[in-house]
Amino acid sequence: MSRCWIALGGNQGPVADTFRDAVALLNRVAGISVTRMSRCYTTSPVGANAGNEFLNAAAELQTTLPPLELLANLQAVETQLGRVRSVHWGPRTLDLDLLLYDEQMLSTPVLTIPHPHMWYRRFVLDPLAEIAPDVIHGGHGLSISELRERLLSRPLKCVLLGGPVDQRVDLQRQLEAEYPQTDWPTESPESAWLAFCFESVPQVEGIPDANRIDVQAFPTAPEQTIRDVLAAALDSVRSV
Ligand code: AMP
Repeated sequence: MSRCWIALGGNQGPVADTFRDAVALLNRVAGISVTRMSRCYTTSPVGANAGNEFLNAAAELQTTLPPLELLANLQAVETQLGRVRSVHWGPRTLDLDLLLYDEQMLSTPVLTIPHPHMWYRRFVLDPLAEIAPDVIHGGHGLSISELRERLLSRPLKCVLLGGPVDQRVDLQRQLEAEYPQTDWPTESPESAWLAFCFESVPQVEGIPDANRIDVQAFPTAPEQTIRDVLAAALDSVRSV
């Protein structure tokens, strides 16, 4: 039996009811049992296409299914409850992400565990910290509550790495003005923990790979990716 955590999110229709339906459908699958559920949290939409405010929650599951089969079941529940994958990062009735599966680390074309974006998202970490504060995120070696608490520190230390210097300096000026809660220490990047990489850069002392975001790997423009990540990291999440 394995212990897993999933994230639930949505911003269309009666989302809290949809979450309840999703839990009921998951409990009907042989080999899945939902053992804990967080409260619901309201969070700001991230991404230009996202639409209205979101509701987010987290749940703990016990399962005998291997990771890929579990993911297939999560996707089947999303489909049953009306998710249509049209716009990337668009509005949705239900999004189910597999966050953690025991202490497994897995990277396949269809599934990455721990979920690659969970560590900088308040909308994932706040609900998860309610039900799994001491669980360790293998990639970072930090507990869920430690990952969340890092996002609360002000100023939030960030750094831009790689790419043409002129472009970086220009963008940094804009970001400093737009996000007064952040600090962009060019002189000592080793003190930053949220590193945006425009290209593969050599190891920078003090910034582990786990804290790097390869902005080129995202489908949106790099500048938009950085703004989306900052919005998710700086969000003020409220429980409801
Ligand atoms: P999204 O549309 O943001 O829900 O992304 C879903 C896509 O991400 C699917 O094609 C999944 O195969 C892939 N994926 C990779 N890792 C995960 C994960 N840990 N949980 C859910 N989906 C994942």
